[in-house]
Amino acid sequence: MTEPKTLAIDETHDPALGSWVASANGHPDFPIQNLPLGVFSPPGKGPRGGIAIGDMILDLAALAMSGLLNGEARIAAQTAAGQALNPLLALGAGPRRALRREVSRLLSDSAHRVAVQPMLYDAAQATLQLPARIGDYSDFYVGIHHATNVGRLFRPDNPLLPNYKHVPIGYHGRASSVAVSGAKVRRPSGQRRAPDRDEPLFGRSGRLDYELELGVWIGRGNILGEPIAIGSAADHIAGLTLLNDWSARDFQAWEYQPLGPFLAKNFLTTVSPWIVTAEALAPFRVAQPPRPEGDPDPLPYLWDANDQATGGIAARLEVTIASQRMRNERLAPHRLSSGSATHMYWTIAQMVAHHSVGGCNLNPGDLLGTGTISGPDRASFGSLLELTAGGRDPVILPTGEERRFIEDGDEIVIAGRFEAKGFVPIGFGPCRGIVVTD
Ligand code: MN
Repeated sequence: MTEPKTLAIDETHDPALGSWVASANGHPDFPIQNLPLGVFSPPGKGPRGGIAIGDMILDLAALAMSGLLNGEARIAAQTAAGQALNPLLALGAGPRRALRREVSRLLSDSAHRVAVQPMLYDAAQATLQLPARIGDYSDFYVGIHHATNVGRLFRPDNPLLPNYKHVPIGYHGRASSVAVSGAKVRRPSGQRRAPDRDEPLFGRSGRLDYELELGVWIGRGNILGEPIAIGSAADHIAGLTLLNDWSARDFQAWEYQPLGPFLAKNFLTTVSPWIVTAEALAPFRVAQPPRPEGDPDPLPYLWDANDQATGGIAARLEVTIASQRMRNERLAPHRLSSGSATHMYWTIAQMVAHHSVGGCNLNPGDLLGTGTISGPDRASFGSLLELTAGGRDPVILPTGEERRFIEDGDEIVIAGRFEAKGFVPIGFGPCRGIVVTD
């Protein structure tokens, strides 16, 4: 079996590679080995595609016009000049990799500095946008520790339903309310029912929560009726982002049966602005952890030996909270959890294969959420629902404030970093949101 080209290590991953953009060297998220794709607006100008490099952003619209690129790389930059990256994502891995190679060369070799410098903008002055128009968003449930923890709270006698180890469980989410990091989180209104009441109440959610997830950006799509085989799934995955699936737990408990979450989830989903490409991720692919003894083998359409060998992601994911009072007192954010992205029972390729096996078409710029990624212990639980055992056991902040769920003024930040021995670590850039009632 040949290894998918997306996993190839090439000169762009060389740990010795540095950039003449000084802030890139040693940058925690965006050294030259990353080169993530996004959409940004420079001050006073319209949105266009960009690539993050250190504290700067390379303007792909300007690069496409510059004459510095040829062939596939130039075509890729031209498709990225507009206000959404869907046309670039539709091209698939080849042109995306060609662009990465050329940009890596232009930003590392100081011979190109004079020509490229005018195409760089200070990221702090730019407005970041969603990287693509999201036609459809689906959220999975592949974090098995999360599924077990939550299942236990909602159904103490029956935490993990019998389908869980056979089907990558998911639901179709709401694309219109996916927003980029920094978007205001308005506390939603809806129905909830107190445990001691028969009738529901209407009002603001009192049990607002976050969910730590990875987002998967779809690159090349498939034609309606033609499933993506698991062995080709990698060709359809453009890259990853951080995703916060904000959740109203009181609404969720009342409404989720029989058809799943609705208003509990559809008021907002926040993603980090940069697509960390499949090519950038190549050094950070690891084996999918083996299934525990006694677990069923997946059906053949979900099984691929190469995917099992390389379908895991070596990333550390972290969630912090800073209350309004903590920010007023200039206290550092409080870490709620830190864990590994390897705690997924199903791989991303299995998610893509399952989503499409009935013929459902995925389109360039579609977004998949993994579901909340929790580790086996409390220090790595990916939601407050789990951390506080359904609100029973509060988290204590450095100010002495208690949190069972998110309060107004709280800022939640998800961060993630890929690490592998012998390679320069890369990151996503933050996925943040402050909760308000207005
Ligand atoms: Mn979720």
